[in-house]
Amino acid sequence: MTALPPPSKKKLGLVIDLDTCVGCHACATSCKEWNAGGIAGPLTDERPYGKDPQGVWFNRVHSYELEADAATKQPAQTLHFPRSCLHCETPACVTVCPTGASYKRAEDGIVLVDEDKCIGCKLCSWACPYGAREYSHVEGVMKKCTLCVDRIYNDKLDEIDRQPACVQACPTRARHFGDLGDPDSDVSKLVAERGGVALMPELGYQPVNRYLPPRPRRTGDDATTDDASQADTGNLAQRWLNRILKR
Ligand code: SF4
Ligand code: SF4
Ligand code: SF4
Repeated sequence: MTALPPPSKKKLGLVIDLDTCVGCHACATSCKEWNAGGIAGPLTDERPYGKDPQGVWFNRVHSYELEADAATKQPAQTLHFPRSCLHCETPACVTVCPTGASYKRAEDGIVLVDEDKCIGCKLCSWACPYGAREYSHVEGVMKKCTLCVDRIYNDKLDEIDRQPACVQACPTRARHFGDLGDPDSDVSKLVAERGGVALMPELGYQPVNRYLPPRPRRTGDDATTDDASQADTGNLAQRWLNRILKR
């Protein structure tokens, strides 16, 4: 059992806009590219072009078809849902860890794995309700999104490049990085403005990352742009996201 540090004022995390994500996987591939050569070490691929490909990805993008909803006058649409570690404030993946390999940083809230301490027991991956842990069968250790800790504090990089690789690669600017513990940060303002949601908050792990719900779609004469409709769509998207995560 690993203890958590006291809650940090700084809560670094991602804000992902489900309205503008086009499911291109640029974030997933740039994550893999950066981390394979960075502190996370090799991100294995087994049979990458074979019948049953397996591999370690810190960020995966899932695409779903949403059915038309007569109540909110929303047409059917495709929704792309990038999924990586949410850097929870009270993460079960840390508290179940028997060796202290999984830990949460006191200074900024980033959740990491010390691979030298990891014994590959997989307790953290069973404890994470978001499926955000990635086990390397080749190395026998657990891995996960590092929030690109080796980029964001890297003074060898130009300041503009001290961003997570996935945020920098996103062609539609659907991904944002910042301090969600600071109500005046750009990311906090964006979450407030767009009604950003946490995933499955009822579980109590208090994820830091937020998702911005898709905006109401226009349907010609039936275009719906009023606030009530937007709220309905946001609630619908949150209920739907929580449902698919619980599967
Ligand atoms: S790069 Fe951006 S648009 Fe492409 S899948 Fe990732 S979040 Fe979505
Ligand atoms: S999303 Fe999962 S792996 Fe990430 S901090 Fe929360 S419980 Fe841990
Ligand atoms: S923050 Fe870094 S490690 Fe995490 S998903 Fe993005 S690119 Fe990957």
